[in-house]
Amino acid sequence: MAGGWSRDGAVQDQIDASVEDAVELARSRLPRGEGLRHCEECDIAIPQARRKAIPGVRLCVNCQSELDVQQADFNSYNRRGSKDSQLR
Ligand SMILES: [Zn+2]
Repeated sequence: MAGGWSRDGAVQDQIDASVEDAVELARSRLPRGEGLRHCEECDIAIPQARRKAIPGVRLCVNCQSELDVQQADFNSYNRRGSKDSQLR
């Protein structure tokens, strides 16, 4: 009885740990503080609706989507890198 319970508990600990990692990762990517009225990159006015929707927004839609593409490239580069190191 007790053994079964502790196995379940260990699995739950692993799940909790990975959820915590994910939350921490998401938090570190979130902008902090108040949003900007003008885009950090191109200085265009950021609509109030966008600033309300995204707390701490720093970029206009155009610059944000460009950044997203860059980050997607960066992430896929990282994945390739870690795959290579596993093969060695
Ligand atoms: Zn911009």
